[in-house]
Amino acid sequence: MPKSVYLLAHPAGHSLSPVMHNAAFHHLGLDIHYAARDVPPEVLAETVMALRDSAVLGANVTIPHKVAVMPYLDRLSETAQAIGAVNTIVNRGGLLIGHNTDAKGFTRALTEVGGLHLQGQVIVMLGAGGAARAILYALLQNDVARVYLYNRTTKKAAALAQNFAPPGKVVIVTEPDLRAALAECTLLINTTSVGMAHDGMDPDISPLPDNLLPERGFVADIVYRPARTRLLRQAEAAGLETQNGLPMLAFQGAESFGCWTGRDAPVEVMLRTLEQALYS
Ligand code: NAP
Repeated sequence: MPKSVYLLAHPAGHSLSPVMHNAAFHHLGLDIHYAARDVPPEVLAETVMALRDSAVLGANVTIPHKVAVMPYLDRLSETAQAIGAVNTIVNRGGLLIGHNTDAKGFTRALTEVGGLHLQGQVIVMLGAGGAARAILYALLQNDVARVYLYNRTTKKAAALAQNFAPPGKVVIVTEPDLRAALAECTLLINTTSVGMAHDGMDPDISPLPDNLLPERGFVADIVYRPARTRLLRQAEAAGLETQNGLPMLAFQGAESFGCWTGRDAPVEVMLRTLEQALYS
């Protein structure tokens, strides 16, 4: 019997997940179809209930439902519980289990594509939104040396740090401290949406003031549209190594694929499909 996987989003229009997952299912000859569903908040509960059907393997969950979906699930993985958000649901015989694959997706993208090891890195992380929660969790799991956390709204950064971090591991910085933090860091991560080409947003801005960049190391931007944000272009011009958000998108998808099917995802196919959909 064919199986289904859904994306629960609102709006659902421009997601790349259907094309990525359907390419992966097709590549492995699996009779599974992935479809995006526009789910306004008032029908979230009943939509989640319908995932218990035996023809449904599970779902992805994205904006604005990643936190709101949690009370409707039967169990949460340790990671989803710690991050406080769910991006993947697995239907195990009518029981719904919530996972979060963003943290693992981020780590695998940096290690497997970027060739980077997180342990011992000194990080400057920009942003304190939903993606930042999963990424800060991943950094702390991987025993980084220190995270300097900068966000436009400082109190959100402080709340995020308090949520996770052992005292001293995460240092909140404001704009005057950024220069010193960037001079010390070995890895800069942009988790803000600044620089993204989307719905009238200006893609030609950087989350850092123009005269500031790390002095060495690696710059990761989780924005994937455009392929090279202003931040990444400036970092490349300064001779720094860079990675955009496409590998993270593919690897969080690969981890979700594994949750639903119990099989290793064809990550190369997923990466190639995303590259074609986004940049050709
Ligand atoms: P979010 O929860 O809305 O957080 C947005 C973050 O960006 C906040 O820290 C916010 O700061 C900051 N920000 C927004 N506009 C700003 C501006 N003009 N100046 C300075 N800071 C600004 O969003 P999210 O879900 O974390 O997503 C953030 C980005 O990551 C999006 O571009 C998304 O597409 C991308 N993303 C990529 C992946 C991937 O797999 N590659 C996964 C998830 C997300 P304040 O707190 O001050 O508002």
